Amino acid sequence: METYSAVDDILLGDLRKAGHRRIALQVPAGLLPSASALARRIEEATGATVVIPTRACFGACDPPGPEESLGSDAIVTLGHAPILNMRRPMKEYFVEMRSPEPDLEPLIERVLKADLPHRLGLVASVQHLSLLGPFSRELARHGFTTEVGTGGRRLAYPGQALGCNYTSATSIEKEVGGFLFIGSGRFHPLGLALSVEKPVWSLDPLGGALEGPYHREKMLSRRLLLIESAMDAKKWGVLVSAFPGQSRVPLAQRLVAKALKHGKDAVVLTFDRLDARDLLGRGLEAYVMTACPRIALDDASQYDRPMLTPPEFLSAIGDRPLLPYRFDTFV
Ligand code: SF4
Repeated sequence: METYSAVDDILLGDLRKAGHRRIALQVPAGLLPSASALARRIEEATGATVVIPTRACFGACDPPGPEESLGSDAIVTLGHAPILNMRRPMKEYFVEMRSPEPDLEPLIERVLKADLPHRLGLVASVQHLSLLGPFSRELARHGFTTEVGTGGRRLAYPGQALGCNYTSATSIEKEVGGFLFIGSGRFHPLGLALSVEKPVWSLDPLGGALEGPYHREKMLSRRLLLIESAMDAKKWGVLVSAFPGQSRVPLAQRLVAKALKHGKDAVVLTFDRLDARDLLGRGLEAYVMTACPRIALDDASQYDRPMLTPPEFLSAIGDRPLLPYRFDTFV
């Protein structure tokens, strides 16, 4: 498993040396417009055939399998870091697409104006992890003490945020007054805000926007309402993913056993990509999602029955208290 910062001569040289015959190029949504040009570049540099799976790829957790990649003998995954504790179907090259360092001065100015806590935990998406060091040094010059935590086995780097694992933040939560997420979009900071009890801000190093603190209480009350709406459900579907980095079969089995213990009925349903229509007409009253926790947290409104995370499910069946709320950390 190799990591690269960009599609560059080092990557192309390594691919050529390895002598792959066919390479699957896995491309995240933001890079789709350049996918054909990148495929051509890899083909010309390596002599391999490149195929591009069209299934949306959400993380390093759902690599294309051998059939989906037409028998490729390697995958080049763009925009993601490896998930260290998952088995992979074939040789994989991770191109993390690290961003160049922006002008820090205006960004630091924004942070100073926003009056953030002076003991600050720093977290970043993989593209911006290289900024953690420069940010720490600059903030220290302005009287901040910053911490970068080391997370669990799913994370490749200290300070890294994954939408399903914020252990780099929870590991330092007691030591800081709040968190600053460095990266774009709201996907990561909203997940982080649900995972920790300290306030969370986010700073987009490219656009310069600073947002936060996010309203954890509002998100929490929506989740609590959903959990309460599922408390009377007798028949549960326990959803298990076929993707290697999202599959939690032992957890699903434990949840079925818990359901039975609490006088509920539960059946395991498997899927790869879930379409809400696939769940219609099954006579089930609620679901628990053991795959990516963000399916239950971000897409709940797509389903006609409550879709809960495993800790939420345990609260709904009376196996654990509703509070403190526990984020479904994928370990
Ligand atoms: S499980 Fe979800 S949040 Fe975690 S890496 Fe996969 S897609 Fe991202």
